[in-house]
Amino acid sequence: MTTTVLKGIEMYIKLAAAEIIGGGVVAFPTETVYGLGANAYDEAAVAKIFEAKGRPADNPLIVHICDKSALSEICTDIPELAYKLADRFWPGPFTMVLPKSDKIPYITSGGLDTVGVRMPSHPVARQLISLCETPIAAPSANLSGSPSPTSARRVFEDMNGRIPYIIDGGECEVGLESTVVAFEDGGVRILRPGGVTKEMLEQVAPRVIIDEGVTGRVSDDIRPASPGMKYKHYAPKAEVILVKGSVEGYRKYVEKNVSEGDFCLVFDASDAVMGVPYVEYGHDPRTQAHMLFEALRELDGRGAHRVFARCPDKNGIGLAVYNRILRAAAFNIVEV
Ligand code: AMP
Ligand code: MG
Repeated sequence: MTTTVLKGIEMYIKLAAAEIIGGGVVAFPTETVYGLGANAYDEAAVAKIFEAKGRPADNPLIVHICDKSALSEICTDIPELAYKLADRFWPGPFTMVLPKSDKIPYITSGGLDTVGVRMPSHPVARQLISLCETPIAAPSANLSGSPSPTSARRVFEDMNGRIPYIIDGGECEVGLESTVVAFEDGGVRILRPGGVTKEMLEQVAPRVIIDEGVTGRVSDDIRPASPGMKYKHYAPKAEVILVKGSVEGYRKYVEKNVSEGDFCLVFDASDAVMGVPYVEYGHDPRTQAHMLFEALRELDGRGAHRVFARCPDKNGIGLAVYNRILRAAAFNIVEV
């Protein structure tokens, strides 16, 4: 199979839509990360997503819509709060988990009776869904386990030869996957943090709980609320050590432990340690979210064996950054 990178012009979106309508899989940009999309109602098409990614069958896909009215086609028993949240945060980086309707096959929901639904804001994603006239199931467009791609070039790295088209829509604005919430006791539980923060949700929902899996390790033998959390995730090839503490403490730790092939992952150049190569991922949480996955892939590209990463703050979208880097580091965190 040959893989073509399409530039995000209307013609190419049409070509990609035809591929999806015909039961194929296409990668496309969203404001969070690039997605790997297929007709959410078509079992055979959705199976191709799992195959292209090497994704475990019990890891559910998020279904993408371009019109709020599609919600009632995909889900049942929709609480009033879900409509309020949709009014406030759609289109945007926000996914709601609700009981699935019979139209959604179990392959799409990873065998669950619930389904995650999101309405993206990216104009290419919206136009693609609209042209397909069907909801599009789309996980991140990376090979299972590796960092999500935030540019077409990074999708190509993982998907070359596996899918026919990648629509190139430039860099993703948010850079991390959507916030995922489930409904309980009149409020919501954050299963995965993202661009819509706890503080933002609290302006609409009477109660917002953060699931333990967000900052904790989910054991392999229990079924977690958010199945994606149990897999080794977002991981570059290098071993990542998350170093928590002051910049002075960070530098001392690196100086003491550094050896050949080690890299620093720092907020900016002023944190770096003399003689140790480094990659930056920004100081404020929004920038960190935007840059983290690209930084992890850059470290791979430069052949890093081990990475000493500065630990981000957990405020606002910082919680999402922390959640991803903690998994990239396989929970290997040292306090200095
Ligand atoms: P991805 O699109 O690759 O970011 O993966 C989607 C993630 O959303 C999954 O790994 C789950 O963690 C979460 N998710 C999707 N659907 C559900 C669901 N029905 N219940 C709980 N979590 C879900
Ligand atoms: Mg993913």
